[in-house]
Amino acid sequence: MQVSGQKIVVLGTGGTIAGTSAQAGDNIGYTAAQVGVAQLLAAVPGLQHAAGGAELHAEQVAQIDSKDMDMSVWQTLALRCAQHLQDPAVTGVVITHGTDTLEETAWFLSQVLDVRCKPVVLTCAMRPATALTPDGPQNLLDAMAVAAAQGARGVVSVAAGEIHGPRHVQKVHPYRVHAFSSGEAGPLGWVEEGVVRLVQDWPLAPNPSALNAFKMIANAPLWPRVEIVLNHAGASGAMVDALVRDGVQGIVVACTGNGTLHHALEAALLKAQDVGVRVVRSTRCAQGQVLPKPGDALPDSQGLSPVKARVSLMLDILQGQSA
Ligand code: ASP
Repeated sequence: MQVSGQKIVVLGTGGTIAGTSAQAGDNIGYTAAQVGVAQLLAAVPGLQHAAGGAELHAEQVAQIDSKDMDMSVWQTLALRCAQHLQDPAVTGVVITHGTDTLEETAWFLSQVLDVRCKPVVLTCAMRPATALTPDGPQNLLDAMAVAAAQGARGVVSVAAGEIHGPRHVQKVHPYRVHAFSSGEAGPLGWVEEGVVRLVQDWPLAPNPSALNAFKMIANAPLWPRVEIVLNHAGASGAMVDALVRDGVQGIVVACTGNGTLHHALEAALLKAQDVGVRVVRSTRCAQGQVLPKPGDALPDSQGLSPVKARVSLMLDILQGQSA
């Protein structure tokens, strides 16, 4: 079956979904990013049917363990997505990705791509392709169903039968197949026997200034340096001072609770902000977000987790540099 003229592009970046282990059944002692994306697709019966009969086009953008994800891969990935999304024949893009940094890539792409009318669907696996019961094939089938779904749009992640939006999705378990959660927000919906059942709307389109970010990242020679520090019992300002000496441009701090900081760390962050370093407070709490109070000296991340706040701060600094 092929719906004439319709195409779904699958961009491979590596991850456990493309991983192999020497022994079948070894779910942890494997090497990620070994199997090419075309081979991955060829191993899943019924994929084109799941894609509503669309032609599948596979392209290897990277072949890495996503713990090693970096800005240059993000840049290439965004450019490839943008190019394919412009093609009227392309109904959606699926990205195979490692689970470790999937939420960061999802947030990044959601901030730089025009996905108001088409979906970009990230999928992954917790078990390598050589596992006795790998989760990758089902996740790929489900991702195809989402990419082909009527009205689908935005950057979403699909794993273990759930569809997650880019703002809330987080990897919450290092081993379980059901490793992703959107916390209190819940998933956008599910894929059941190839059918998408939504309980929330597709993700909102990013605001126009975020879309401008695409132009910047397309040509960004150098990404701004933004680091994450953590508040904890006995925290000090030493790391922040060292980062400032080292030329850091932005710091996201994973605060305790509702944006609270050890007084020594807070003093160092205020000093950093005074000399021009952008500082953003997020929370290390797994749920909820920092609620701002009048007179807060350090801005909060507006609900973004530390890793996503870092992505947004990098994009913000880039935009500021080009203004
Ligand atoms: N380390 C792997 C990766 O992120 C883990 C996974 O994909 O499950 O690429």
